[in-house]
Amino acid sequence: MRCMFCKKEVLNQDKSLGRPISLPRRGIAHSNCAEEDLIEKRIFGSIHITEISLDDLYELRELVKTEIDDRVKHNNEQAEQQE
Ligand SMILES: [Zn+2]
Repeated sequence: MRCMFCKKEVLNQDKSLGRPISLPRRGIAHSNCAEEDLIEKRIFGSIHITEISLDDLYELRELVKTEIDDRVKHNNEQAEQQE
């Protein structure tokens, strides 16, 4: 069984490329190789970042920023209440 990305044997003793994982309908791979592939293709969950229009990307960025700000604020408030 070979990794679909690096073509090296998946089930050998070398764990430097991560654990073996199976990708549904695609094949098997090292976890590290699969992760690198995702970063390269810029996929988040089922979202292909490169396929989003620039306008939508700006909107997504604002949504993400707002969500992060909200959560940080919420966490800070909770931390203050515990003091
Ligand atoms: Zn691999």
